[in-house]
Amino acid sequence: MNFETDVTESIQRTGDIISIRFARPAEFDYSPGQFIFVTVGSGDGEVTKHLSISSSPTEGFLEVTKRLTGHPFANALAALKEGDKVRLRGPFGKFTLAGDAGEHKKIGMLSGGIGISPLRSMIKYACDKMLDTDIVLFYSNRHEESIAFKKEFEDLTRKFPKFNVANTVTMPAPSWKGITGRISADMIQKYMPDYLDRVFYISGPTRMVDSLLSLLKEMRIPEEQIKKEFFPGYD
Ligand SMILES: Cc1cc2nc3c(=O)[nH]c(=O)nc-3n(C[C@H](O)[C@H](O)[C@H](O)COP(=O)(O)OP(=O)(O)OC[C@H]3O[C@@H](n4cnc5c(N)ncnc54)[C@H](O)[C@@H]3O)c2cc1C
Repeated sequence: MNFETDVTESIQRTGDIISIRFARPAEFDYSPGQFIFVTVGSGDGEVTKHLSISSSPTEGFLEVTKRLTGHPFANALAALKEGDKVRLRGPFGKFTLAGDAGEHKKIGMLSGGIGISPLRSMIKYACDKMLDTDIVLFYSNRHEESIAFKKEFEDLTRKFPKFNVANTVTMPAPSWKGITGRISADMIQKYMPDYLDRVFYISGPTRMVDSLLSLLKEMRIPEEQIKKEFFPGYD
């Protein structure tokens, strides 16, 4: 579907991550985890980029979440205000939680920074639909303040026993009491002992996804148990 829609809200998630919400046409349907092409006007004309949909199909709006890079597309997105028009085309992609009943009984999600965007869609969907799917999210960020959707995920873990989040911080402040360091085999074994039974969803900047794929290979997770989404443009 190719359509024009209105911006309804802009939300600052962290120092360099924003979410933009759009009016969702009644006929626009998508699977949690899919992406759309977003076209915005910048100083040099129009720019189009892939962005994952961070909202869940259970929500009445459409949302994308973007890391601000200071480049023309990111700047144009950051400048959008309520009532502005954008063009969207989609949905596309197979990095999804397929089926209303959820495809897998046990999922391990590995992500960092902006890679959270399609995973947020899947997590919100699984919780809203109360799917019989156990999800553990490992989410790595430099600082506590860089954790997007932190409060929302904490609230969801309290409401939905089948969802758990392990935030890890690589450059912790002395006040950080949680897990530290990059996502590692030790961390996965400790916080997700049944990891061999899980289907893994990995999403993030290309280099991070590559290194997590190597990690899962070392941990003997079969390739058919791994789904991945690469975000180029950040390495
Ligand atoms: C399936 C998919 C889903 C995605 N989902 C998301 C998402 O949910 N959120 C998100 O933030 N991103 C997402 N991305 C990545 C997104 O599409 C962009 O690639 C990324 O955000 C960078 O865009 P930018 O405009 O900010 O930076 P760009 O301007 O594209 O810069 C990216 C890189 O290119 C270099 N560069 C820029 N212009 C030039 C030039 N003229 N010559 C040489 N080098 C140049 C820059 O230095 C930088 O290293 C997704 C990508 C894919 C493929």
